[in-house]
Amino acid sequence: MAAGEFDLIDRIRARTVARDDVVLGIGDDAALLQPPAGMQLVVAMDTLNAGIHFPHDTAPADIGWKALAVNLSDLAAMGATPAWCTLSLSLSEPDAAWVDAFLNGFDALARQHAVALVGGDTTRGPLSVCVSMFGFVSPGRALRRAAARVGDDIWVSGTPGDAAAALAQWSAGGARDPVLRARLDRPTPRVTLGLRLSEVAHAAIDISDGLLADLAHVCRASNVRAEVDVDALPVSGALRAAVSDVETRRALQASGGDDYELCFAAPVAQRDAIFAAALDAHVPVTRIGRIVEGQGVVATSNGGPWMPVRTGWDHFAG
Ligand code: ADP
Ligand code: MG
Repeated sequence: MAAGEFDLIDRIRARTVARDDVVLGIGDDAALLQPPAGMQLVVAMDTLNAGIHFPHDTAPADIGWKALAVNLSDLAAMGATPAWCTLSLSLSEPDAAWVDAFLNGFDALARQHAVALVGGDTTRGPLSVCVSMFGFVSPGRALRRAAARVGDDIWVSGTPGDAAAALAQWSAGGARDPVLRARLDRPTPRVTLGLRLSEVAHAAIDISDGLLADLAHVCRASNVRAEVDVDALPVSGALRAAVSDVETRRALQASGGDDYELCFAAPVAQRDAIFAAALDAHVPVTRIGRIVEGQGVVATSNGGPWMPVRTGWDHFAG
């Protein structure tokens, strides 16, 4: 169904979440927003390109969900409260049915977090979705990558590796588990957990590029070393069922991206508070290591050094 640019924008505007702090939303040259007094503005942006950030066969509703989810995840990793977003949409054809389906996913997640879409841009081009997210944090409360300290526990939320397993299954072209695929297409941003952690943790990052790679960013920024016990990594039932080889599974967990779980460093004295925060946020958390003096990330298994096996798709298919 072909549609004009303004028809598409009208469809988008009709679906947006209402908020009192949106003085002027979609429809003028720019939006007018009223941040709460005394709060810092937190800003993040992430782009999803077809074929690079999601498989070409991804449903439009899932693309909509994920475009918002990856940005909410960045705010969660800062310990921020999300409020507003903008959306830049490049479409090869001005297809109203596609936009409606996209909005079904986008809007479902936006409503969950009371995020208002306040503006954007609609252009013709290869399918690409770029969202900017705006939120708030109390001054001094943001969870920065540079704030991990020697002696901290290292934690991870949820069950890393599921999204990478779904991508591996999709690539291999064999059996595909819908539970794993949902973890790839509809990641759950850990917004409530991030908010609660801002009171008790030192540093956090969301796992978009793989647990060990993202943890390495924290170590570099904090000038510390991370020791991760791969035996402690929590495994989902779906991942255990899909990948029987332990080393392949661990490699997906340690190096696979797209999980959008939180990896965070927190003082040992906060263990009980962290379990309480996880209970409130309805997401399991697992202690997987500790911060020590030095640089880089070392992974261990059974007390010895551990290196991930190559996770080629062939290996996975076998
Ligand atoms: P301008 O030419 O001033 O940039 P546009 O025609 O691009 O105006 O946009 C008109 C209004 O629609 C603006 O308020 C803009 O923020 C909004 N808008 C355009 N595209 C989108 C989109 N994909 N999502 C949300 N708002 C959009
Ligand atoms: Mg414009």
